[in-house]
Amino acid sequence: MRILVANDDGIHSAGIAALARVASRFGEVRVVAPDVEQSSASHAVTASRPLSYRRSRYPDGVEAWRVNGTPADCVALGVHHWQDVDLVLSGINIGTNVGNALWHSGTLAAAKQATLFGLRGIALSTPSTAPGGEEPDFEALEPHVERVLTALIPLSSARLLNVNVPVSPRGMAWTRQAVRQYDGRIVPDEDPMGRTHYWFTVVPIERTEPGTDLWAMERQYISVTPLGLDLTDADALERLSAELPLDVPTELEPAEEVEEDES
Ligand code: MN
Repeated sequence: MRILVANDDGIHSAGIAALARVASRFGEVRVVAPDVEQSSASHAVTASRPLSYRRSRYPDGVEAWRVNGTPADCVALGVHHWQDVDLVLSGINIGTNVGNALWHSGTLAAAKQATLFGLRGIALSTPSTAPGGEEPDFEALEPHVERVLTALIPLSSARLLNVNVPVSPRGMAWTRQAVRQYDGRIVPDEDPMGRTHYWFTVVPIERTEPGTDLWAMERQYISVTPLGLDLTDADALERLSAELPLDVPTELEPAEEVEEDES
């Protein structure tokens, strides 16, 4: 089994090294990751300048390549250079990716890019605030990540999964994305010259709904959320078409090629 490993924290993150190490127990691994951190890059692709693909030294003899682009770029280049990839793993992100954070997540975008290519993608994240405020203890996390991959890799019908692993998991739960509340806020601050600047940052959500990714993580359960690529709101489509009937184009009408906007 060929496993491409990407992330958004960059090729030098301890999280991707841990993921590559665990993934090696399941198949042949190649790391393709951004040369610098691309957290919150979401699903951006680099369309207006060329990309480079450079070999990097990596521990444990893993073949690794760095890209001057986004997580989605890395998956695209990785799949281009390595035929017959079976699975793309992304992470392990330093910082959870739950709820509405999935809109911003570069970690998820790498897994999503795999799904767009018709491959399977699994994104993995863990809280950034380990006890003591240090980087997560990836060595301690590895057995849990191995358990996750052992359970999820055989599920061939799972196209896109978002996994969050707490520091000391009590179990593993299927969840849905928490979408009711948004935790992003603008927080004003002052620079050393007394000028106001701003942080677009995350503040904790106080109430969470049962069964969601956030709820499971608060209870120290590994959260596994199957995701889809279709953004259509099916309920709204039905409701609105009844409220405002519009034209219904048929197959018989002449079609012209639609140019997709890169932005
Ligand atoms: Mn990140």
